[in-house]
Amino acid sequence: MSQFTYRDNLLYAEEVSCSKLADAYGTPCYVYSKAAIQHSYQAYASALQHWPTRICYAVKANSNLAILSLLAQLGAGFDVVSGGELERVIRAGGDAGKVVFSGVAKRADEIRRALLAGIYCFNIESREELERVESIAKEMGIPARVSLRVNPDVNPSTHPYISTGLKENKFGVEIDQAWELYQRIAQSRDLHAAGIDCHIGSQLLDLAPFQACFEKLFELVDRLHGCGIALQHVDVGGGLGIAYTHRESAPGPQEFAKVLAPFMQDRQLELIVEPGRALVGAAGLLLCRVEYLKHTAQKNFALVDAAMNDLLRPSLYSAWHGISAVYKEAGDEMLYDVVGPVCESSDWLGSQRSLCIKQGSLLAIHDVGAYGFVMASNYNSRMRPAEILVDGDQAWLVRKRESIEQLFADEIIPG
Ligand SMILES: *Cc1c(COP(=O)(O)O)cnc(C)c1O
Repeated sequence: MSQFTYRDNLLYAEEVSCSKLADAYGTPCYVYSKAAIQHSYQAYASALQHWPTRICYAVKANSNLAILSLLAQLGAGFDVVSGGELERVIRAGGDAGKVVFSGVAKRADEIRRALLAGIYCFNIESREELERVESIAKEMGIPARVSLRVNPDVNPSTHPYISTGLKENKFGVEIDQAWELYQRIAQSRDLHAAGIDCHIGSQLLDLAPFQACFEKLFELVDRLHGCGIALQHVDVGGGLGIAYTHRESAPGPQEFAKVLAPFMQDRQLELIVEPGRALVGAAGLLLCRVEYLKHTAQKNFALVDAAMNDLLRPSLYSAWHGISAVYKEAGDEMLYDVVGPVCESSDWLGSQRSLCIKQGSLLAIHDVGAYGFVMASNYNSRMRPAEILVDGDQAWLVRKRESIEQLFADEIIPG
């Protein structure tokens, strides 16, 4: 059930009209629904309730402090991929003891900080990284809980930029190497083998690759158990997709749990999942305004005040996002390419969209709660947009639009 619905042809975020939000906060702005995030979190929690489970929200999907605080209050742990994300979790009131730290190239200072903060576990991606964590743990006198990120070599059938579990990808260690490294962890006084993990890619709409991954992962868990290495948890990563188009259908956490059930059954293991997109993707809109309509011999362009610097996914992955008029006017629709003001031909938000709009119309770009604002930049010296969290009939400005001053506040002209 979407929290973004039309009433009398006007788009609402929960109980607040999107045109009021645009008037109050300006455009472009991201609008998130608190209820949508709560619902998707609870759907996950209830689907996985048969097992001792920790939902570690993948912070990189949307790292606004208000979103992290909301998820912390719901009981979530967090999957972070940098020292900066760890600081955000702590600032938002998240429990460092429920943090797993992923990422292929953790720096020494990040590892030190994470050990001091008392994170639950490091997801280790190479022998070299394991050695670095071990030596820092030794030097600090704080043993590190670790999990090896296994690369199961399965094809997730998603966009190549977001597939991570193939042999040629930079992520994880091969199964045979993992086996060796666990023997080494078992010998170490400064490392503790807490678990095992994998994450094969993002925006998966098919469950078969998960199945293939679990088969390899749990087989290794059993082999390790057989030689006296009893892991506490299995972390199956994130990656569950959402339906961006009406033609797509995404498996929900219930269906995901069904695939997992035979593997979890009869094994004394805790489960960790690291969903990002599935928790927040559908919970966000990007509101923007039509500056001009431009008609050429080939095409009609809707030139809007949002651009690739605000929402990169269409330019980066050729991603498709629904685009609708915030106020649905009566009249004939035309096909438009919806594009931004940035000086790149890849600066498009949607192509060949049927819309009835005029200069000044407001547009909503849908399903941008994940990998939206977090990928925003200042390219073309554009200020990053405001972010608003809607809760019922209340709207909170959870991040102000950047100001001109902020754009160059840290720059220095020498001399
Ligand atoms: C990105 C990422 C996730 C989250 O992926 P989603 O597709 O957003 O669920 C989880 N774990 C790791 C290690 C990641 O890199």
